[in-house]
Amino acid sequence: MYLYPFTYCAPTTVDEALALLQAHPDGKILAGGQSLIPLMGLGLARPSALIDVNNLPGLEGVVEDGGSLRIGALVRHRTLETDPAVRRRCPILAEAASVIGNIRVRHRGTIGGSLAHADPAAELPLVATAMGATLEIRGPRVSREIGAEKFFLGYLQTDLAPVEMVTGIRVPVVNAGTGCGLAQLVRRAGDFAIVSACALVSLDDAGRCTHAALALGGVGSHPVRIHGAEALLVGRALTDRCIEDAARVVSGELDPESDVHASAAYRRAMARVMARRALAAAAARAAASTAHEEERG
Ligand SMILES: Cc1cc2nc3c(=O)[nH]c(=O)nc-3n(C[C@H](O)[C@H](O)[C@H](O)COP(=O)(O)OP(=O)(O)OC[C@H]3O[C@@H](n4cnc5c(N)ncnc54)[C@H](O)[C@@H]3O)c2cc1C
Repeated sequence: MYLYPFTYCAPTTVDEALALLQAHPDGKILAGGQSLIPLMGLGLARPSALIDVNNLPGLEGVVEDGGSLRIGALVRHRTLETDPAVRRRCPILAEAASVIGNIRVRHRGTIGGSLAHADPAAELPLVATAMGATLEIRGPRVSREIGAEKFFLGYLQTDLAPVEMVTGIRVPVVNAGTGCGLAQLVRRAGDFAIVSACALVSLDDAGRCTHAALALGGVGSHPVRIHGAEALLVGRALTDRCIEDAARVVSGELDPESDVHASAAYRRAMARVMARRALAAAAARAAASTAHEEERG
């Protein structure tokens, strides 16, 4: 692999990293390097400087904070997969992280890097979109927060300005009566999904849906929420029929493109199947968690 020449910078504070981003307008943050370095090897990215954020304080750790988990941008996929707080309070993130690439990729890749890279087929942008996660962003002058649904703008494109960086993400915790599901069409285990779906549903004591979120990946330039399907679920008992009705809405709301992996028509058909599977898994988990709470109480 041949890399074009670049300056390597190893800041020790976030402010220093932000100053370096300003000083090198075509510089790039280096986190796990699992997407950036391959792109550089192919000559598709030629940053003049790499700003290595691996030594910055405040970008590590998973902390439960009120109703959400605050996850530092440098938290590795492997940590998401194994961390007890993530597994207990936001198990869908652990499930999603566990199917990313292979164990070597998961030990290096970071949640901040995956979100900033914004591959439309990647697992973490999809889950962040379905869960209604919020990204924490630092810039030279202001700090801001943005919902995942607004953050992803297009293929490898986000709302992040060149002088900004992601410092963390906040994901709502999953309480009793709520369940999440992930379904993916993959050629081989560990591959990027051809089509993927992530669902979250909440049920009341009578088993009616009080909240639903459904996001699809691999069907456009970024993950998308399917609000029409979500609206159809709220207020209803999540029977197989109801879930199928919602999944049918999905194919109508998407306009995927054909590529070497799948035709547009196949993608649309599989989006419906993945949506149904993700919703069914979410509904079953929500019902099971309600039953579990009742047994305990
Ligand atoms: C063999 C292989 C298989 C893979 N399979 C999958 C898969 O199945 N599913 C999947 O989702 N991903 C997969 N990936 C990608 C992997 O998840 C990457 O780890 C991830 O996309 C990027 O994270 P990173 O920390 O390595 O970021 P880097 O490669 O370091 O950076 C990626 C981009 O994000 C920017 N960036 C990084 N951190 C920040 C930050 N904090 N703020 C602002 N910008 C930032 C960088 O400047 C760069 O533009 C695979 C990678 C490999 C090499």
